[in-house]
Amino acid sequence: MQKVLDCIQELQLPKPLEFRNVRKISVLRDRRRQDLLTNQTVGFVPTMGALHEGHLSLIRQAARENTRVYVSTYVNPTQFGVNEDFDSYPNTWVEDQAKLTAVFHELTQDEYVGQIATVFQPGTNKMYPGLPPTSEINGDGSFVTITPLSTLLEGASRPVFFRGVATVCMKLLNIVQPERVYFGQKDIQQTLVIKRMVEDFHLNTEVRVVPTLREKDGLAMSSRNVYLGTRRRAVAPVLQRALQAIQNASADGIRTRKDLLAAAFLLTSSVQQTQRNLPPSERAMFEVDYFSIADPRTMTELDEVKAEDHPIISGAITMLPILEPRKGENLGLGDAKTGVRLIDNIRLDILAAKLSLTDHEQ
Ligand code: AMP
Repeated sequence: MQKVLDCIQELQLPKPLEFRNVRKISVLRDRRRQDLLTNQTVGFVPTMGALHEGHLSLIRQAARENTRVYVSTYVNPTQFGVNEDFDSYPNTWVEDQAKLTAVFHELTQDEYVGQIATVFQPGTNKMYPGLPPTSEINGDGSFVTITPLSTLLEGASRPVFFRGVATVCMKLLNIVQPERVYFGQKDIQQTLVIKRMVEDFHLNTEVRVVPTLREKDGLAMSSRNVYLGTRRRAVAPVLQRALQAIQNASADGIRTRKDLLAAAFLLTSSVQQTQRNLPPSERAMFEVDYFSIADPRTMTELDEVKAEDHPIISGAITMLPILEPRKGENLGLGDAKTGVRLIDNIRLDILAAKLSLTDHEQ
């Protein structure tokens, strides 16, 4: 086995000296073919650009496990609902290039076997060659639908979202044909939809899931955080704290869904009340979309939690528009005129909360 590995190593080319931005599908395919013929392994990181450290952690992971990393930065129209923020989604090409270049230099270190080789930014007319892409639920086109997973939680709030995600990932995976594809735990339901799709459609790739990267105060990094501005940003960690409140309730021995969820709602209600008590020029209000305690494979809700279930606690809130901006206030991209939807999840860890010890003592 070692001989085979040494042989492969010898056949491999050195790391590329720069990455190439590619728009054309045919060029991407040529590069992929070359990589195949020279025994490279390809790890693929699909993104919608507006890169942050969370995205970069996916790239680093891909570079630990593959010799060539392909990144896409395509903002896919079909996963945005009709009234969602497709038109205003942050477009940060220059900043993205700078971040990719910085990571490229970092990946020259020996701890990484791989390097960014290709950054793919296809045009929408090429990605959707048949009909113009639609965000209508009953719109025409070629789509991949994964049910019932796509109808739950995020799918219940955003009916076309997972159809769009599965469709664009099917297209990208058919084009890139990576050995491995990398997704963030932050979008846990997305990882399950993609895993289901890969298995059901016999796609020849391994789905790898990378932990969520957070800001110091617990807020999960997200391209949409730039919309928050200072005031909403200060309140936004309430989502992570609510998930933590569920974890803490389980440490107190609470096992039923109803009582665990109550812990999250208690916390969010108290923060909402605090904000309501502030003058309108200082408050940042939010609405809870859902909290969920679900089976990690199917995302179906659990009525009672057990350690062996390894449940996923997830939630979504919308930070509401700022109604009374102050003069000179940093309102973030878009001037805080629209709501910002935030999602997050953690794995409920009953054992880490030492519940078996408490049970034993009782
Ligand atoms: P997006 O550009 O938002 O579509 O995200 C592209 C990929 O980055 C997805 O697989 C996300 O799950 C992942 N991602 C986004 N935010 C984070 C984060 N904070 N930590 C880790 N991965 C993330």
